[in-house]
Amino acid sequence: MTDTKHTSQVTGKPAKKDDSDPNSISIQAAKEIIAARLLKITDKESVAMDTAYGRILACDVDSPINVPSFRASAMDGYAYRHAERENKLQISAQSLAGHPSEDHANANECHRITTGARVPDFADTVVQQENVSVNNNTITINQHSDISHHVRAAGSDSTKGASLMQRGQRLAAAQIATLTSHGFTEVEVIRPIKIAVFSTGDELAKPQDKLQRGHIYDANRALISGILKSPAVDINDLGIVKDTPEALQEVFTLSMDADVVISSGGVSVGDADFVRPVLEQMGELHMWKIAMKPGRPLTFGNLAKNNAYFGLPGNPVSAAITCMVFVLPALQLLTGQPVKELPRIKATLKTTLTKMPGRVEYQRGVLTLEENGLWSVSTTGIQDSHVVTSLHHANCFVELAYESAGAQASEEVMVIPFAHFSESLL
Ligand code: AMP
Ligand code: MG
Repeated sequence: MTDTKHTSQVTGKPAKKDDSDPNSISIQAAKEIIAARLLKITDKESVAMDTAYGRILACDVDSPINVPSFRASAMDGYAYRHAERENKLQISAQSLAGHPSEDHANANECHRITTGARVPDFADTVVQQENVSVNNNTITINQHSDISHHVRAAGSDSTKGASLMQRGQRLAAAQIATLTSHGFTEVEVIRPIKIAVFSTGDELAKPQDKLQRGHIYDANRALISGILKSPAVDINDLGIVKDTPEALQEVFTLSMDADVVISSGGVSVGDADFVRPVLEQMGELHMWKIAMKPGRPLTFGNLAKNNAYFGLPGNPVSAAITCMVFVLPALQLLTGQPVKELPRIKATLKTTLTKMPGRVEYQRGVLTLEENGLWSVSTTGIQDSHVVTSLHHANCFVELAYESAGAQASEEVMVIPFAHFSESLL
């Protein structure tokens, strides 16, 4: 995400209130620390094309054939010699899609042809049937065109040997169609990223549990697993973990084999926040404290040598946003994908947004295309980071810069649209 240098000052008078923390680092700096620590996954596996959706290509692919492999007609009409366009042409054969005619024709002959059919060798042009008069098996061309009109050249989609796709390409419908149209039946992809996910907190209950006094249902495992859901990942849900160093040690031991470990909660400075000390004891801590809201206590380190540990904050909105801002790009990097910046658009605020300078802030908003063709955005309401329903109601984040002291209705703000939290963004 775009970052704002958090060293920059609010111009003029000192701000009345400031939310900055001298120990926190910028979002960009945090992303760089994370990127520098990631070890790309290079293990490959071969999968059939019909199970390749959402997987990440493990090698460059060249085109094994010309597509199309023959000159094909783009129209229903007649294949003829352009030099004979003024003559009456006798229809001597027909070339139908999948049923080519012979390549030869005598002078002043043409072949009836359909869309997708092979253009016989004698012909250099196709005239569409609407532009001819037919009389007793003979055509007269009423409207002339340039030579080779309506003839799709062999290799006009791709030429044999040409580069088709690069390693790191995510395979969605267009890519799978491209590969199958070039005759591939299977493809080499990066093995799924092994991700261990758990929630920490003595107050957390599973949905099937009866809620006890002072307990809440766990939202974060569902949220994180949902955001990261993709055929390119393999999520191991390790459940809810108690707020004790021993319980954390146990789950850390179970997570050692994962490529990425994602916990939520226990990363603040409360009495029961043991994630950081246990991470330092069993692995390495690379950073925590980022100048963003929500999400300041995000923790990053590693347990084993080649895994990445993300300790997301406990509040669900903070966990979701830090997962999108930091974990998603990390997963893209791990599989060799180019990092996809989340798209941003400018929108006019319909409501006032409050904020203190000192952190980049992501507020939940509802983006609407107005009748005048311009985008407007309103708040989902209360922005506290425990409000999971704000994620449900939102279709965008409003990104407020580090220095911003809030925004007034009718001001233009930067917005990051997203489809929905039920859809993967990876
Ligand atoms: P923590 O970061 O552990 O101090 O938690 C911060 C806040 O988030 C507390 O109000 C927790 O109860 C809440 N919280 C932590 N984990 C979860 C979770 N998995 N689901 C819902 N709320 C949570
Ligand atoms: Mg906690």
